[in-house]
Amino acid sequence: MRRAAPPETSQMSDNSPEKPVTRATPQALLVDDQSFEQHRPTGYHPERPERLTAARAAAEHANVSWQRVAVREATDDQLARVHSPAFVESLEKLRGHRGYLDPDTYYCEQTIVAARRAAGGVAAMVEDMLSKTDGSVGVAMPRPPGHHARPSQAMGFCLLNNIAVAAAHARALGVGRVAIVDFDVHHGNGTQEMFYRDPAVLYISTHQYPFYPGTGAADEIGEGEGTGFTVNIPLTAGGGDSVYRGAFDRIVLPVLEQYAPELLLVSAGFDASARDPLAEMNLSERGFGYMTQKLTVQARRSARGRMGLVLEGGYDLVALEAGLADAISAAIGDATFEVPTDPENPDIERAVREARAHWKLA
Ligand SMILES: [Zn+2]
Repeated sequence: MRRAAPPETSQMSDNSPEKPVTRATPQALLVDDQSFEQHRPTGYHPERPERLTAARAAAEHANVSWQRVAVREATDDQLARVHSPAFVESLEKLRGHRGYLDPDTYYCEQTIVAARRAAGGVAAMVEDMLSKTDGSVGVAMPRPPGHHARPSQAMGFCLLNNIAVAAAHARALGVGRVAIVDFDVHHGNGTQEMFYRDPAVLYISTHQYPFYPGTGAADEIGEGEGTGFTVNIPLTAGGGDSVYRGAFDRIVLPVLEQYAPELLLVSAGFDASARDPLAEMNLSERGFGYMTQKLTVQARRSARGRMGLVLEGGYDLVALEAGLADAISAAIGDATFEVPTDPENPDIERAVREARAHWKLA
């Protein structure tokens, strides 16, 4: 269900009782690039350019004045913060070629350019966000997606880990604490691995479990100095809005409140939708709106409003467009979303017990 757009005019303020104050159209950063549509499979593949068309439609129909981020290829130095140089070099050799990196992960002649511009674009978004003193929200729709990409391995439709490159870039620019919240239906194994020993990048994931890629058990909590700074909330297939609300209200939001990130990045996949053909969760678009709205509140509290939504999966075009539209209206348009609660979900109880070793949770 799509929520109504916010009103064009606000109530008369006490300071200027004579005339209504016109509310300016909210501004936000947008990462999009022609190269993202040039990553094309041979024959049918769920990770297809039409996904970008759906995401663009969501952005176009939003009541937002988009400021386009200048997209450029990620540099070797930016990539080397999370990927091995040998891996990046091996990808470079694929420029202009077509094939498969694993049974799921195709590349075509333009893929390496797209992948490097995807990672570079999300990093540039973070740089633009940090240059603004009043904070800003960004929406990035990179293709290929990123959260399964490991330090030295492409997998799960992903070549370079866009959000991880951006988080590491923020750290290099002096941000003390970055949080990545990943509500894609799949566990972001690559992102987790890259920051598993790093307390300066908190990784929190909700995901169907057991499911591809197999990682993301509740007892995967980080290592060494990073212990406690990976929070996994594995969910049994079939859960919907109320389960996700439980995960957010009981774990994601209180952990974020305690961590107080200075920048919040979101691996925004829309494949936990009830319509998605690859997974078995049951979120409505309202659920995506609810989660994003709550994250927006947290970003305003600790991160001066700096929150970047980075597209990951989502393979039903209708669900992708509707879910992203509601996420955008929550992040930028201040729309609010109500979803039911599920007070005694065993998945949530188990994840709470695990996370309680490191965080104060009710
Ligand atoms: Zn996914």
